Amino acid sequence: GGTIGILGGGQLGRMMAIAAAQLGYRCHVYEPGRDSVAAEVSAQFTCAPWHDEAALARFAEGCDVVTWEFENVPVAPLAPIEGLLAPHPRALETAQDRLKEKRFVEGLGGVPAAYAPVDSAHDLAAAVDRIGAPGILKTRRDGYDGKGQWRIQTARDANAIRVPDAPAIYEGFVEFGCEFSVILVRGRDGEVRFWDSAENTHVGGILATSTLPASAMVAEQVPAARDLAAQVAEALGYVGVLTLEFFATAEGPVFNEMAPRVHNSGHWTIEGAATSQFENHVRAICGLPLGDTATTAGQVVMTNIIGEDAQAAHECLGQPGAHLHLYGKRQARPGRKMGHVTRIGAG
Ligand code: ATP
Ligand code: MG
Ligand code: MG
Repeated sequence: GGTIGILGGGQLGRMMAIAAAQLGYRCHVYEPGRDSVAAEVSAQFTCAPWHDEAALARFAEGCDVVTWEFENVPVAPLAPIEGLLAPHPRALETAQDRLKEKRFVEGLGGVPAAYAPVDSAHDLAAAVDRIGAPGILKTRRDGYDGKGQWRIQTARDANAIRVPDAPAIYEGFVEFGCEFSVILVRGRDGEVRFWDSAENTHVGGILATSTLPASAMVAEQVPAARDLAAQVAEALGYVGVLTLEFFATAEGPVFNEMAPRVHNSGHWTIEGAATSQFENHVRAICGLPLGDTATTAGQVVMTNIIGEDAQAAHECLGQPGAHLHLYGKRQARPGRKMGHVTRIGAG
C-alpha cells in the first residue's frame, strides 16, 4: 500500500485511481477546479491553484509518489517535489511545447510533418510560402482535443487568419492513410512493454474511435514507430505509461505528438488487454513488476461518448461484449468527453 498523488482531476485520473485502489493504494488528487471526477473515487482531494507552493508542499508530504494525468501542469512549481515525481518532469517540459517536442523527436531520428515556428503574421506567410497549403496552425502550448488549432486550406486563408497571441507552429497537412498510437510502459529498471497499436479515427480534432486489430498499413509501420517510442522513453529516463501518436503514410510513420501519460486511445486495454494502461502505470511508478500487455480479444472497438447526455449511452448495456464507462461529469458540453464504450468481440 501507500499513497499516490495525482496531479489533475479528470477521467484519466479517475480510471488511474480505480486501478490503484484495486492494488491497495490510496489516491490523493490535486486539481485547481472545484469539480473533479477523479477526486470522487479517491481518498483525498486538494483543490488549489497549480502555483500554490504551500498547498503543493502539503499535498506532497502525504504522498509516497506523485504522478499526473494532465499534461499541461506547470512545471516550475514542481521543482521542490521533483524527487517524488514519476515520470520525471522533463517529460512534461518536452511535451508541453510542440516546437521543443518536434525538435527532440527529430534528434532521435523521428520524422514529423514539415513545420515552422510562427510568432507573427509575417512568420505565418513565410511558413505557408515555404511549406505550402493546406496546413494547420497550432499554438505551441496548452492545446488538446484540437483546441488552439486553425486549418489553413490556401495561402489566401493564411492572410485572413488572425495569428494567435501566443507562440505557434505551422505544420504541413499530412496525407495519411490512417492514424495510430504507440503506448508503452517503462519500469523503474528500464524494462519496456508495448500494447498493440490501435487504429484511431478523429472527428473535429477529437479522438472518436480506437480499433483493433489495426489495418495492414499500421501493422507494417508499428515496428519503426515502436523503436522511436522506446528511444524517446529511454532519453527521458521515463517511468510509467507514454504515448506517441503517428500518421501512417506511404513514406512510413510520421510522428504527430506525444503524451507523457495514459491516453484515450488506450482505454480499450481495460477490457481488451491482460493488464490495462492504468494498472501498468501504477505498477511502474510504484516499482512493482509490470503486467502482461497482450491483447486478450480478437476484436476491440472503443468509442468515445462526446458532448451528449451520458445516460443515452445506457442503450449499450444490453449488448453482449459492450463495456460502458461513464466519467460522472455533471454537465454535457459540445466536445466534452463524457465516457466511452469498449466493445469486445471474438474476431
Ligand atoms: P490531443 O492531444 O487531444 O490528441 P491535440 O489538440 O494535441 O489533440 P493534434 O493531435 O495535434 O491535437 O491534432 C488532432 C488531430 O488533427 C490529429 O489526430 C489529426 O487527425 C489531425 N491533425 C493534426 N495535425 C495534422 C497534420 N499536420 N496533418 C494532418 N492531420 C493533422
Ligand atoms: Mg495533444
Ligand atoms: Mg493528438
